[in-house]
Amino acid sequence: MRILVVEDEKRLAASLQAGLQAEGFAVDTAHDGEEGLWYAREHDYDAILLDLMLPRVNGYEVCATLRAEENWTPILMLTARAGESDQVEALDTGADDYVTKPFSFQVLLARLRSLLRRGVRERPTLLTVGDLVLDPATRMVTRNGTELSLTSREHSLLEFLMRRDGQVVTKSDILANVWDYAFEGDPNIVEVYVGRLRRKVDRPFGRSDIETLRGSGYRLRVPDA
Ligand code: CA
Repeated sequence: MRILVVEDEKRLAASLQAGLQAEGFAVDTAHDGEEGLWYAREHDYDAILLDLMLPRVNGYEVCATLRAEENWTPILMLTARAGESDQVEALDTGADDYVTKPFSFQVLLARLRSLLRRGVRERPTLLTVGDLVLDPATRMVTRNGTELSLTSREHSLLEFLMRRDGQVVTKSDILANVWDYAFEGDPNIVEVYVGRLRRKVDRPFGRSDIETLRGSGYRLRVPDA
């Protein structure tokens, strides 16, 4: 059994590798999302342990990219926060299971073994908010049946808003999840991207569902069912 560990905390990656090797697994490690994608594309793994917050390409994006490429290797996501939304997001992006940090190695091993028993299953999921439909696997977005052309950052931002299901998200939430915790540029970049998204997602359809809530953040309005 061959496992890929994608984890930027090098000591954790090394201890996972040692622990899994002691259990008889062959283990490769990658320390950022880009490297993780490279390994996952180059080799066949029985499972991937994928950290959520990673440099370059975050865990959600790694997961969504692999699924978009029809790579269905079972993925166990390592999420740093106890917030439920992260776990839901992990599963929605195509991860098969998750463990919340800090975890005990025995718990991780049990989850991993159960994942390996289940084997590969194809499980694309669609996100829907009103007439907006986003497919995290193929990255296709449609509104009222019309396909929208979004850059990958615009796509990530829209996906983040859609997953929040009508909740208000702050600018720093957006920066942390759509950019990176390590983002050190101008936070007003968020406004720029929200503006771009409105021009593509709302305006052509005569809508204004992406709302700015002064002083608190942004929200994608969910239509009454
Ligand atoms: Ca990390």
